[in-house]
Order: sequence, then C-alpha cells, then structure tokens
Amino acid sequence: MQKIPSSLLLAALYLLSISACRTVSTTVDASVPSTSSSASAPAQLAQQNVDATIYQNMSAEVHRLYQQGYELAKIRLDANLARPHTKPPAVIVDIDETVLDNSPYQVTNAANGRTYSPETWKQWTAKASAKALPGAVEFLNYAASRGCEVFYISNREADEEAATVRNLATVGFPMADTLHVVPMVGTSDKTARRAAVAKTHYIALLAGDQLRDFDESFKNRSVDNGKPLVDAQRDTLERYFIMLPNSMYGTWLDAVSGKPLESKPANKEAVLKKNAY
Ligand SMILES: [Mg+2]
Repeated sequence: MQKIPSSLLLAALYLLSISACRTVSTTVDASVPSTSSSASAPAQLAQQNVDATIYQNMSAEVHRLYQQGYELAKIRLDANLARPHTKPPAVIVDIDETVLDNSPYQVTNAANGRTYSPETWKQWTAKASAKALPGAVEFLNYAASRGCEVFYISNREADEEAATVRNLATVGFPMADTLHVVPMVGTSDKTARRAAVAKTHYIALLAGDQLRDFDESFKNRSVDNGKPLVDAQRDTLERYFIMLPNSMYGTWLDAVSGKPLESKPANKEAVLKKNAY
C-alpha cells in the first residue's frame, strides 16, 4: 500500500475541521425557525407545518389525489344525474384547496417563519393568482356541459369576492361571477348557504377539502377525531361528496391545536406525546 505523505494528511484534517465548523455554525443560525420554546409561536407553527406544506405543494402524490378525486366526481355526478329529480341540477364546491391551490401562500409562510394571518392571507387572495387544482377545471366544465349550475360556497370574505371571481375566471372555471361565488357572511357554517341552493336546485354533488363542506355536523371532533361520524354517514358521503386532500390546515388540525395561537405549538406536541405508544 502506498504511503500518504504527512503534509497531505494534515491538509485533509484541516479541511475536515473547517467543514465541521461550518456545519455547527449553520445549525445554530438564528434565522432558521425552530420548534424550541424560545422561538415565537408563529415561528414554531411554521416549522411544525413544513412537511405538510411540502407534501401539499410539491408532491406528485397530492397532484394525483386531486386528479383521482375529480375522476371519481365525474362518475358520481353521472350516477346522480341519472337518479330521479325535478329541480334543475347543481354542483356545490368549496374554493380553497378544493378548486384553487393556496399552497404557495403556505410555502411563503413556512419560508418566512410565520403562520396564517388575515392580513397576509388577504394580500395573497388579492393577487388573484392561485392556480387551479388538478382536474377541477375539467370536472366543473363537464358538470356545466351536463346542465349543472355550479356554486362556489367559500369561507373567503365578501371583500375578497371580486378578486376571487377574477381568479376563478382567469384559470377557466365556469360561472365565475358574483351570482355563483358565495362568500362567508358572519359565519363559517355553510349550512344556510347550501340550503339556499337546495331550495331551487337538485344538489347532484358536493366537493371540498373539509368534511364541513358537506355537513356542519362534522365540526364535532370530540369522539376519535370525528371518525365515527364519518362512518355513520358513509353511504351518503360515498354517493354525494368528493373529499379532497389538505394536509396544511383545517378543522382536523384546529381540533388538536386548540386556541389561542400562543398555546398551539405546545398543544400539538402534547397530543403527540399522549398518543405515542
Ligand atoms: Mg377549503
């Protein structure tokens, strides 16, 4: 075996020691959000939400899940339109994480160590630049071609409506106008807004990223995170509701993280500890 000159060994050790120092200095970079209790609650929440945000924004799996959801939507819609009905048919969809992709907003939050706030959210929706989720434009144009009226029942607020209509129209959604985009007024409960559509229409299908986009009773997560309620309504859900993925936020997360914002990071960690085997 050839002997390595000692000068080369010393040089290699020197380089190793420098790279070790670099590693240490990167690890303690104060600008990186941390889950340690010394970080602010928004910074901790941003860090806790990183993998969920990456999954939603970047994964081919979520891309495919939306395609799959809207493929199933077409099958269900065809079946439901074949059922007897007297009123004209309608399809009801939620907007955020159902037909429009807001994961760039969440990515920006995570990158900046911040979490959702009404101010930054409205700056994002005012841009009217959200992309359509995979399969959504095709499905809703298909529904329109089958004679369905499309209603976008959303918990965006009234002052976001104009930009929302513009955003939906730009990416090709049908019936993107103030008659069909129904924003939140006073309550996040969508029951009354769905009932108003049901007065004049046969609701042939609903789609959403939250179970509450189908029925408000799913707000109740007191028993096993609401799973028994899903099982109890399984036949109806199977026939009339398309559930789409949202790993970033929702009633499911609110039920675990609680309020106020300052206590959310610790509440989430406590739930993990409680459920660890
Ligand atoms: Mg939504």
